[in-house]
Amino acid sequence: MELIVCKFGGSSLADAAGFLRARRILERSRGRKYVVVSAPGKRSDSDEKITDLLARANIQSAHGGSEALAQICARYRAIGQALGIDGTEAWLTALCRDVRRAPMLAASRGEWLCAKMFAAFAGLPFVDAEALIRFDAGGGLLQGETRRRIRAMAARTAGAVVPGFYGGSADGAIRTFPRGGSDISGALIAAALGAKRYENWTDVDGLMSADPRLCAGAVCHNAVSYRQMRRLARAGARVLHPDCLSPAADAGVPTVLRNTFAPERGGTYISDCVRGEAPCVCTREDLCAVPIEALSADARGLIAGRADFIASDGGKLAAMPRMKNRRAAALVSAFGLPRAQLAAACVDVQPLGVRTDDGCAQFLIPAERMSGAANALHARLLRCAGIAAQD
Ligand code: ASP
Repeated sequence: MELIVCKFGGSSLADAAGFLRARRILERSRGRKYVVVSAPGKRSDSDEKITDLLARANIQSAHGGSEALAQICARYRAIGQALGIDGTEAWLTALCRDVRRAPMLAASRGEWLCAKMFAAFAGLPFVDAEALIRFDAGGGLLQGETRRRIRAMAARTAGAVVPGFYGGSADGAIRTFPRGGSDISGALIAAALGAKRYENWTDVDGLMSADPRLCAGAVCHNAVSYRQMRRLARAGARVLHPDCLSPAADAGVPTVLRNTFAPERGGTYISDCVRGEAPCVCTREDLCAVPIEALSADARGLIAGRADFIASDGGKLAAMPRMKNRRAAALVSAFGLPRAQLAAACVDVQPLGVRTDDGCAQFLIPAERMSGAANALHARLLRCAGIAAQD
């Protein structure tokens, strides 16, 4: 039987209906045995993620405040009561105690409790990430030790639910990955177990040709390479945590992005067997444009090392992290734009500067024209690839 590691993100497990959806997905394939969970995320745009509430509850606890903690308890209680999960109250008591302790321990309790509850609900054992994902006292991941522990866990279980986002450190403390780090936990487990695939279940269909909130007609790609995913992450795309790509790719485990809310859709298959660039537009808005000629020789030297972008045409402009009193700029990257289309694309978007790099063209655009430029490039990319825009 093929082994599949599933990771469910915060939006997938935001409420009781999400728990039901995730359990149904597990029931559909006998290979889906090892499950990594995030903390419950937002149920609507105005909602707060449990991890954000925990960070606030940790700060409030130092001043005797309990507003965020009350919200956290209400959210978990609603899930526990709707699904009849025994043990919820006792686990919440432990969470209320831990929230007052170190900030990383407090932040990790969202995943911890979600995994406790989902394990009980799905009828799988709970295995604490503290015992599996190991860090040294300086916060570096102990890769070999982590791999050994995950394999030992799989040798004694036929399946398990593991909290994402954190692990245990040699100094006895709990340590978290950066935000969104449950993706990394899932990839480490899938890689250590040599899984047939790593399914990452979220609230989107997969890798889209552009952010659908920005570009009309964005389509979902069936397949993309790990290499392109890494480059997309550097260009600003926020699909998966960038640090989850290498563990899975190095172990030869494909990652599949799936939509918990539409499991009948195939999602996006990520593997290094995929050739070529999937046509995609992505944007970064955190930049400003700096004319290089206006800088001293020393400053130019500094910029050459720090700039996110230097135009290919002799480098008259650099893009730096946004600074006051500098022109706000956006970097719009077009993956899969044929070379012969570059001049026409420049006419479309009138960039401040252009850089091309191995199947990707990057356009530096004044911030106020970013949306128009992204839409024009996206439409051109789809036309060139012969893909009809989605309604
Ligand atoms: N719960 C954490 C966050 O909100 C980690 C994760 O969801 O991956 O960032």
